[in-house]
Amino acid sequence: MMRNSRGSIVRPVPLPDSASRPVVTPLSPSVVYASDTPDALDDQYEGRVHGYTYSREGHPNADVVAARLDAMEGVSGGVVTGSGMGAVSAVLLGLLKSGDHVIGGNQLYGRSLRLMAEDLPRLGIATTLADPCDLDAMRAAIRPHTRILLVEVVSNPTLRVADIAGLAALCREHGILLAVDNTFTTPRGLRPFEHGADIVIHSITKLLAGHSDVMLGYAVARDPDLTEAMRVFSITTGLTPSPFDCWLAERGMLSFDLRFDRAQATAAALADHLAGLPGIKRVIYPMRADHPDHTRASQLLGGQGCNMVSFELDGGRAAANAFTRAADGLSFAPTLGDVGTTLSHPASSSHRALTPGKRAELGLSEGFFRVSVGLEDPDALKQVFSQATTAAAGV
Ligand SMILES: *Cc1c(COP(=O)(O)O)cnc(C)c1O
Repeated sequence: MMRNSRGSIVRPVPLPDSASRPVVTPLSPSVVYASDTPDALDDQYEGRVHGYTYSREGHPNADVVAARLDAMEGVSGGVVTGSGMGAVSAVLLGLLKSGDHVIGGNQLYGRSLRLMAEDLPRLGIATTLADPCDLDAMRAAIRPHTRILLVEVVSNPTLRVADIAGLAALCREHGILLAVDNTFTTPRGLRPFEHGADIVIHSITKLLAGHSDVMLGYAVARDPDLTEAMRVFSITTGLTPSPFDCWLAERGMLSFDLRFDRAQATAAALADHLAGLPGIKRVIYPMRADHPDHTRASQLLGGQGCNMVSFELDGGRAAANAFTRAADGLSFAPTLGDVGTTLSHPASSSHRALTPGKRAELGLSEGFFRVSVGLEDPDALKQVFSQATTAAAGV
């Protein structure tokens, strides 16, 4: 080992030998990877051997997360990005060109809507938004240069369920790529490739990593050439994730199935509980018989619902304030998929930019809440919602 004059160690330090292996994926923060010789580097660049070079181009922790998600979605070669929006951008900006047209669901995630409304048109890519539950509206939106149709399966926060089978048939008929943002439903609820999707997107930030301490995304196409185009785009534009975030995300993903099953079972029970409480105007949960898309949801999601429940309180903003104040131990925070239950109030957060008239059109009154159900004891959770609803009714 080389030492400098003060005796401190300079790089590289050989790793200690071990005949046994770690059971946890090692964290590999190295930005660069050293090779033995220029010939060895040639072998790597020419693809004769696999090796890492520079971490923006790829690193082991990202590849491990990608491999886990690939297995869950039944595909290979997926690209992990620094956030869910990085993945949406890799799809839309990495695959489309000026002159193309893209259709989006009209209730996409807020930033996806912004990308469609502001950034794509600025680059010469035309966009149209339409209702993914309404096939005729989607058909009417198609133009000769439509390349991609991007939808979410369960809309936020009104939890409408897209007609994925109908959209897949429509896309096939017109040679359009169907891209599904599967963040809400997760591969445990739905594997979009089995329903005709061509591209799948995830915000790993939400349920998959599941602890609100990591931002990551994932994008993959059925066609490896498209995935490769997205990979090259994300390397060039620097969408690469940090090794530490990938390492944390993998840790979260190990318990994903258990967390999802628990959260969705509690969500179903909570939805029924809320429906029986005085002061609750309506409850929206796709697995309930009174949901407008109940039949479609049952077929599509195969009995696994989702961890999201929306509901509407009687009374306006004052009742909503009283509700969050009395909702002991629940974070009032506009995210989803945490280990703890979180409450979001679209009128003051995600949908605050809309006019009251436009919000009313979407059914988003001042009493409307979206709940991301976490892992608390189900009975204790019901108790908190009863208590908060009673407090709201008292104002
Ligand atoms: C959160 C979210 C995104 C964006 O993911 P980030 O990791 O926050 O960038 C995209 N789509 C859906 C459906 C989301 O919920």
